[in-house]
Amino acid sequence: MKGFVPPPRLTLSTEPLPITREITITEGISVKDLAEKLGIRAKDLIARLLARGVFATINQTLDQELAGDMARQFGADAKVITFEEQLMQDTGPAQSAEQAAETMQARPPVVTIMGHVDHGKTTLLDSIREANVAGGEAGGITQHIGAYKVRIADTNSPAYGREIAFIDTPGHEAFTRMRARGAKVTDIVVLVVAADDGVMPQTLEAMDHAKAANVPIIVAVNKIDKPDALPDRVKKQLADRGLMPEDWGGNTVFVDVSAKQKTNLNLLLEMICLVADLQEVKSNPDRPASGTVLEAKLDRGRGPVATVLIQSGTLKIGDAFVAGNIFGRVRAMFDDRGKALEQASPSTPVEILGAEGLPAAGDQFVVAERERAHEISEYRTMKAREAQLAKTSRVSLEGLSEQIKAAGIKELPIILKGDVQGSVEVLSDLLTKLSNEKVKIKVLHSGVGAITETDVLLASASNAIIIGFNVRPERKAHDLAEQEKVDIRLHSIIYELQDEIKRAMAGLLEPVIREAYHGRAEVRETFRIPKVGTIAGCFMQDGLIKRDDEVRLLRDNVVVFKGKVGSLRRFKDDVNEVRNGQECGIGISGYGDIKVGDVIEGFVTERIAQEVFA
Ligand code: GDP
Repeated sequence: MKGFVPPPRLTLSTEPLPITREITITEGISVKDLAEKLGIRAKDLIARLLARGVFATINQTLDQELAGDMARQFGADAKVITFEEQLMQDTGPAQSAEQAAETMQARPPVVTIMGHVDHGKTTLLDSIREANVAGGEAGGITQHIGAYKVRIADTNSPAYGREIAFIDTPGHEAFTRMRARGAKVTDIVVLVVAADDGVMPQTLEAMDHAKAANVPIIVAVNKIDKPDALPDRVKKQLADRGLMPEDWGGNTVFVDVSAKQKTNLNLLLEMICLVADLQEVKSNPDRPASGTVLEAKLDRGRGPVATVLIQSGTLKIGDAFVAGNIFGRVRAMFDDRGKALEQASPSTPVEILGAEGLPAAGDQFVVAERERAHEISEYRTMKAREAQLAKTSRVSLEGLSEQIKAAGIKELPIILKGDVQGSVEVLSDLLTKLSNEKVKIKVLHSGVGAITETDVLLASASNAIIIGFNVRPERKAHDLAEQEKVDIRLHSIIYELQDEIKRAMAGLLEPVIREAYHGRAEVRETFRIPKVGTIAGCFMQDGLIKRDDEVRLLRDNVVVFKGKVGSLRRFKDDVNEVRNGQECGIGISGYGDIKVGDVIEGFVTERIAQEVFA
């Protein structure tokens, strides 16, 4: 090894050597491999680790920081690359960008169908599938494995014989859930809009989700067989929202179809191929496979079964792989008709047997040498827990202040939910106009109603913050936001909201007043007590409520009143707090209009110093 300084004799001294060289290490490198890269004996490395208080065996993997530290101790600067990067280096046949481009071949596009409920997404998926059986063999049993591939069967079609993969879970929720996990699967979104119903809230939501992901949209105007179908109205409605049809001078492809009567389905497929060609949907089939896990389940007879969409390379029987942190070896694989496959090329969805556990939807799937795959899976398992805790790099308003101070951030994406359409529109406008030369405010999605899990997923996937105006997150959304570290800001006064965003943009948001949620109670009965007012007979659904808490009264997730606890009782006694699972009586100071089914939420507002986000 060139420029190598002989390592010191075995000693517990931790005096580092001067840096004389550079090495490249992968995440989760083992003690043995690191010693080899450093050109030292593993024994010496173990001793040095011991001096640091780390007791490691020769096959143990080290985390990046420690490995880098150790390398420096032995006079080397370590450049850490990810497992995937390492694989690209090892197996990527191309040396230059030009050569890389040459190895790329067109692959079938991957399509997700989105749209409002009942507009015909499922029918469209089924009809396309029935009419265009993959491999030209009809009669096989249809398996729902999360995705399927068709080959255009119409010999008159200019796209005859071309293949398209469809994700079988329609809707934008699954789409964004994958994206939140870092998976990019979809090349094209087909937005289904029923011609008799027109653009609906979920149509717009789907549109926002596709746009946030930068995926091109083709509009399928469905149900044109219906007598009350108004396809031009759909065109107009979408044109007004930025999806301008081609024949009106824009660049969005619209196709009128009937999923039920199978009208114009071929035209839709041709258009998908056309858009795919424009997008240059390509990958290299001649390398070890990689892809994304679409779903995974435990089958009684067969063990873990993972559906994987192959995105690059070719998967073969016997290949060892890692999916997320799960190790496996392909024992058998099947296509969406249950047919056994020997190999699977890019854009093919396959069911794989041989995983040693259940990976999660959205996990990266990568083929690697068996031993390496094993190592990585172990390392990732170890890391998974830490990673869960360390998810703090999301945008938050305080974080924004920090980043602006450091002149880093340029854009603040926002998801805005409000109680009525009017205020949502006004706020959206107001917020967008707050943009200045330093920070651009971009409202990714806005809508009426409670903050849902889907909103949180979109925020997580797009690194956005959520603003609720007179609305609250649903329980599940609240939990998911905590887990994903998504910043949710709740307001009921426009001025305050504006002020908070302005201060965040100016880098002045410190210290913050933050709400600490205590718990919630469901109102099951109400009593009017003379001279006292209305008392709500409640059941505590979550957490606790204290006598001196502030409370807000929610009706259908909309805040109808904010105030303080007036009285708190268990049976006949005044108490200081009530807890999850208990029945209690709650009175709200100065407010009597409590109804059965309302929810009372207890919280305190506390002043906290500004947190510094990474
Ligand atoms: P999804 O909720 O978007 O998946 O919608 P479905 O595919 O379940 O369809 C909702 C309803 O619309 C079903 O009763 C379908 O039979 C009907 N439907 C779907 N496509 C068409 C169509 O092209 N024409 C007519 N007339 N009905 C359709």
